[in-house]
Amino acid sequence: MACKFISNEDTNKWLEALAKDHVVFVPVEDGGSVTFRPFAEGRKPVLDRMPVRSPKEAVFPQTETLLTYKYEKDPENPERTAVSIKETLPRERAVVFGARPCGTRGMSVFDKVFDNDRIRDPYYATRRENTLYITLACDKVESTCFCHEVGSGPADTTCSDVLLTPVQGGFAAEAVTERGGKMLEASFFADGGDKCAEAEAVKKATREMLGEAHDYSDAPEKLMAAFDDDEFWEEQAAGCINCGACTYLCPTCYCFNITDEPTGTTGKRVRTWDTCMSFQYTLEGSGHNPRTVKASRLKNRVNHKFAYIPDTYDKHIGCCGCGRCIKSCPASVDIRAIVKAAQARSVKKESK
Ligand code: SF4
Ligand code: SF4
Repeated sequence: MACKFISNEDTNKWLEALAKDHVVFVPVEDGGSVTFRPFAEGRKPVLDRMPVRSPKEAVFPQTETLLTYKYEKDPENPERTAVSIKETLPRERAVVFGARPCGTRGMSVFDKVFDNDRIRDPYYATRRENTLYITLACDKVESTCFCHEVGSGPADTTCSDVLLTPVQGGFAAEAVTERGGKMLEASFFADGGDKCAEAEAVKKATREMLGEAHDYSDAPEKLMAAFDDDEFWEEQAAGCINCGACTYLCPTCYCFNITDEPTGTTGKRVRTWDTCMSFQYTLEGSGHNPRTVKASRLKNRVNHKFAYIPDTYDKHIGCCGCGRCIKSCPASVDIRAIVKAAQARSVKKESK
């Protein structure tokens, strides 16, 4: 990857230039936490810590209108009715700036689910095609980080177009895709020179801070072995209050609900995030609910990330190790600890 350099001052100018023909999502302080919001002059991006909210919102908004509709009836001829539907495909070009590699990697799960050989979600696919990811490599780690254990790392380039690494006075910038390479042709970038070696040292040092990686490769098998162990799952879910924070903040959680919102004879169809941690998520029209207890809902979330997605998508773990769910859980439920407990549980049983 060719390496360039951009100073801190020029980074702001670059953002201003990008914002002329893109919606540029940057991490900013908002409502007490760091979240992605459109860049505006004077709005300073927060780049010294990981955003609480995930960058998935740029391509998978919390709420989006899929279509609007109108029902018409001729009062002189009641049998003459018509329904018109208008699709509301997103058109704007966007840039996500300053997401961490784990957050951007979350898109790899979305890509597999929303845009594959069988299914192409036009809303997701259009946004994804029109969105560029400028990712920021980490130069420090938190106790909840475990990207290195799930096939990622603090300088992972999966789904990024450009990778920035913090160096003295600015950022070393590497193009990951052709689109990213075009971005680095802007006049704000200078030749990387010795900043590139500095960036490599930053990446190496951060990876070392994470230490050795736990091996999750047998997690799918071990979690399935624990599937019917209700006592195990009740113990893991004891503190959970089913608030759903873990799923809303997760860069790889993609569940949604669709509702029609009528106003007289017109209306709109809306897609909103849903959460498998809620009782209503699996409540069927008949009144039957296959997941009535929180233990079964937590089991589904953990198994989905560490067993079902790897089994379906060539061992790709459905968790990017960002630690958001651990940090924000009011009950401190730790997904790493649950998977490790399932792995240890099998070991214990096997040694009996
Ligand atoms: S954030 Fe914690 S308490 Fe809330 S649903 Fe998730 S695991 Fe349960
Ligand atoms: S499950 Fe937790 S640690 Fe894994 S990607 Fe989601 S929020 Fe991050």
